[in-house]
Formats: sequence, structure tokens, C-alpha cells
Amino acid sequence: MSDIKAEYIWIDGTKPTARLRSKTKILPAGTEMPIWGFDGSSTQQAEGADSDCVLNPVFVCPDPLRGGENKLVLSEVLLTDMTPHPSNTRAACAAVAETYGAHETWFGIEQEYTFFDGSRPLGWPETGFPAPQGDYYCGVGANEVFGRDICEAHSDACMAAGLAISGTNAEVMPGQWEFQIGPIGTVEAADHLWVARWLLYRIAEEWSVSATLHPKPVPGDWNGAGAHTNVSTKAMRSSFDACVAAAEALKANHDAHMKHYGDGVEMRLTGLHETARHDEFTYGVSDRGASVRIPWQVERDQQGYIEDRRPNANMDPYVVNRLITETICSAAEA
Ligand code: ADP
Ligand code: MN
Ligand code: MN
Ligand code: MN
Repeated sequence: MSDIKAEYIWIDGTKPTARLRSKTKILPAGTEMPIWGFDGSSTQQAEGADSDCVLNPVFVCPDPLRGGENKLVLSEVLLTDMTPHPSNTRAACAAVAETYGAHETWFGIEQEYTFFDGSRPLGWPETGFPAPQGDYYCGVGANEVFGRDICEAHSDACMAAGLAISGTNAEVMPGQWEFQIGPIGTVEAADHLWVARWLLYRIAEEWSVSATLHPKPVPGDWNGAGAHTNVSTKAMRSSFDACVAAAEALKANHDAHMKHYGDGVEMRLTGLHETARHDEFTYGVSDRGASVRIPWQVERDQQGYIEDRRPNANMDPYVVNRLITETICSAAEA
């Protein structure tokens, strides 16, 4: 049998916002992905004197870039005693998902991001600013939309990898885009989002463009970048009252959640640009100025899901999905 390439992808220990890392292992086709290791002293995950960290494969999918039998191997980081590394946020997320497994939580995450060409957002003039926001969201035409070919290559790659990508759109600020993952389970949604992020950075390389999840990539009167997190439980998918109860549970835990919704969240949640202020919690039907929106069709159908609009683009979905699952499901059981 011939050999294949397996790209091991992991989340590092950079603070306050972790970064993605990856390296290639060549192994015979058809073998199960083995545990592997790396030098944690180069990723903020260990001291030089005791630098070995373990990569434990948690989600394997086809590699859409290398094709053939090649794989992408999302891995969690363990210590050499096989317990979760302090930077490993997946283990706690998986534990909570199991505890509340009977609720059958589904997550759908809207990942906003911004392409940069050097120090400017893609398509921005060399000096000054583009025309003010208003025409760019879901726009069409070379004067409004920048980077569509990269966005297309990315969504094609996510589909070929078998990720649960459910859509894409151009965003409010020129050079800004969104893709959506889900709805799928608490841990799966986060796994797929991390792999989709890696694919985004990797594919943009081909255009010598960088993609950033910065929550406020351009200061001033320009849109921030969020990661609206849509959630439902089995009960919410058949009861409007359960959807309202979930929003109330999030209200009661606003401060605890906000600490973990991404670095710089107060920079983005100003009360402007379709956000609610970071120090207030509101929810409402169809309300894009609320912390939590109940989509209009959920009220009409008297069942469905709610949208937590607070998480930043740079949030860790293992942390956000864990907190939301814990908060909503524990309140439903109380
Ligand atoms: P908008 O931009 O109007 O806020 P999007 O279409 O970008 O909405 O995203 C809606 C998200 O809601 C998608 O990611 C989708 O997967 C998710 N979603 C739809 N139904 C459910 C559900 N029952 N539970 C959880 N998420 C859901
Ligand atoms: Mn959206
Ligand atoms: Mn959006
Ligand atoms: Mn949204």
C-alpha cells in the first residue's frame, strides 16, 4: 500500500487567543491515526526542560487540498500522562455534552472573518477608506465584493472534507465574510469549526491573503466580527416556551458567559452595528440589537432555536458551546 499524508492540526497555548498549528505525518494508507507528539515549548504549551506534549486524534476527515487518501487529523493536546493539557478546552466540553446528552443539543455557528492584504482589509484603497457601509452585505459586483474566489474555494473545501458547512455570505464591511457550521452536536460543531478555520487560513495562503478573526479589525464606524451561536435542545425544537426559558437562563448567567466569549468582546459589543452593549442582556423576537435573538419563524412555528449574538469571531467554540449547554440544560432540569 502506498503512503499518505496526515495533517495533524491542534490548538496551541497562546493567550488570550489560541492559534492553530499543524504538521505533517507520512504513514501507510489505511492505518488508524496514531497518537503523536510535538515540542510544546514552541507553542506556549510547555517549558523547554520538559517540552513533550501529546497529540491525540479526535476528528479525522479527508484532506480536500491534498486529495486522494490524505487526511486532516484534528487532535486534542494531552500531557504525557495522557490527561488533558491545561490548554485543552475540548475535554471539558465533551464531558458536559455527555452529562446533558439526553437534551440532544444542536449548535449552528456563524463564523465571521476578515481578509487582509498586508495591513489593509482586502479591497480597501491604499489611502483613505472605501465608501461607508450599506451596500456590501450580501453584495455583488467588483466594486463591492472582495475575495469571493477565496470564500468559494473555502466552502468547496469544507464540503469535500465532509464538514457540516451550511452557507456563506459577504458581510457588512468590505473584505468581511461569514460561513456557517451546523446544526450539529455540541462537540462536533466545535470540531468542525476549528477544522474550517484551519482550512480558511490555509486556502487564503494560496492568494497571499491572511484571514483574521479579530473582533474589531478596523476601529471606528466599521462592523466588528462575531460568531453568533445558534442553539437548540430537543425540548426547544418542539416548544416556544422552552426557547424563552433558554434565553432566560442565558440572562441569569450573562456575566459568567461574557468572560469567555472572546478577547476584546467589549470592543465589539458597543450597542452599535447590530450589537447589544456588553454590560447589558436583552432578548427579543427578530431583534438584531439584542444579546439573544429569537428568530421570527421560531415565534411563528412556536418551536425552534435561539441565537446568542454575543460571542466574538475569535471565541473558542469548545468553551462557548460548553457554557451554553451547561446553562440551558441545567436550568431545564432545575
Ligand atoms: P442569520 O445571519 O440570519 O443570523 P444564518 O443563516 O447565518 O442566520 O445562521 C443561522 C444558523 O442557525 C445556521 O448556522 C444554522 O445551522 C443554525 N440553526 C438552524 N436551525 C437550528 C437549530 N434547530 N438548532 C441550532 N442551530 C440551528
Ligand atoms: Mn449569518
Ligand atoms: Mn453575520
Ligand atoms: Mn446571526
